[in-house]
Amino acid sequence: MRDHYDVIVIGGSAAGLSAALVLGRSRRSVLVVDAGEPRNAVAEGAHNYLGREGVAPSELYRIGRDEVAAYGVEVQPGRIVAASPTDGDGVDPVGFSVTLDSGRVVAARRLVVASGAVDVLPKVPGLAEQWGRGVVHCPFCHGWEVRDQHIGVLVTTPNGVHHALMFRALSDRVTAFVTDPTLVDDTAREGFAARGIRVVDDSVRRVRSSDGVLTGVELGSGEVVALDALAAASTAEARVDFAAGLGLTASDVVVNGFRFGSALTVDAAGQTAVRGVYAAGNVAAPMATVIASAAAGVQAGVAAHGDLVQADLAAALAGAAAGSGAAAGSGAARVSG
Ligand SMILES: Cc1cc2nc3c(=O)[nH]c(=O)nc-3n(C[C@H](O)[C@H](O)[C@H](O)COP(=O)(O)OP(=O)(O)OC[C@H]3O[C@@H](n4cnc5c(N)ncnc54)[C@H](O)[C@@H]3O)c2cc1C
Repeated sequence: MRDHYDVIVIGGSAAGLSAALVLGRSRRSVLVVDAGEPRNAVAEGAHNYLGREGVAPSELYRIGRDEVAAYGVEVQPGRIVAASPTDGDGVDPVGFSVTLDSGRVVAARRLVVASGAVDVLPKVPGLAEQWGRGVVHCPFCHGWEVRDQHIGVLVTTPNGVHHALMFRALSDRVTAFVTDPTLVDDTAREGFAARGIRVVDDSVRRVRSSDGVLTGVELGSGEVVALDALAAASTAEARVDFAAGLGLTASDVVVNGFRFGSALTVDAAGQTAVRGVYAAGNVAAPMATVIASAAAGVQAGVAAHGDLVQADLAAALAGAAAGSGAAAGSGAARVSG
């Protein structure tokens, strides 16, 4: 085990392992630290990942760990609990120190933050237990699996109207549960009627299940509506607890006036506001799918490597200049930079 790497990657899922792969293949020394809680861990399969359609998330990431290990990348289970900038390693003025939950302290020239997001769910009893199974959030991730079934849509945000219409494309049996009438105006109700979406104006008191299978919802009135699946929106909050020492905080992500979650802000190359710290995947883009997160990880890895190439060049040029200056001044033999 080393105590200094070119790059430390925080999070070893779609984004982090993809960054590590391109960095390992570029002959960088890389440590991936992964707490082992990918956002889609509860899902049976990861969909829309071309070439691996429907693969179990745990299997996809196991394959990824094997692939990066083949290029010398170290993957360590654990959690980064703190990170801060340093003065670099004497050659490169940019550097970082990170602390793992084991107490291990490791240095790196660059960081890639790929720690994902955590879903904050509507506070309805019984909903969390069904998250990713009977309760779904994404028509692209789970829609095919619930096609033609009786799908309930919990309208808890202004985006709920669009959510219901998305699920209506998958089944002609959709019921919208409107918990707050201000969220659904007359135009939306006309749209629901035109598309044959049933509307229930009542609160949802609990999600009901039997033997681990969702069976329906219980309304505020006490009525029970039988369902095969319930669509509900979460907010996806960036996992950045460790990043305060870097001066990084997540900002709100607002889509169509609706707060979707929070994320780190990055430039087109994936660099955050802190030089040398890159971010990829859901931590920077809460709507990104697995394959989009993997692509962003590759981009961040490419950018971090390019930055290191320039830093190595600057150090070599400085060394060469120092060598030629000494030679001119003293007539001594030139020392290679
Ligand atoms: C129920 C559900 C089903 C989904 N299904 C699909 C689907 O079918 N297809 C699809 O494309 N997308 C799907 N998604 C979205 C998918 O989960 C994300 O696109 C994807 O997980 C993002 O990858 P990521 O690498 O950015 O983050 P994650 O996969 O969340 O991985 C982040 C990793 O970083 C680790 N980590 C966090 N903090 C630290 C720390 N401080 N130190 C070390 N490690 C840390 C975590 O433990 C985790 O292992 C689904 C999402 C949910 C919620």
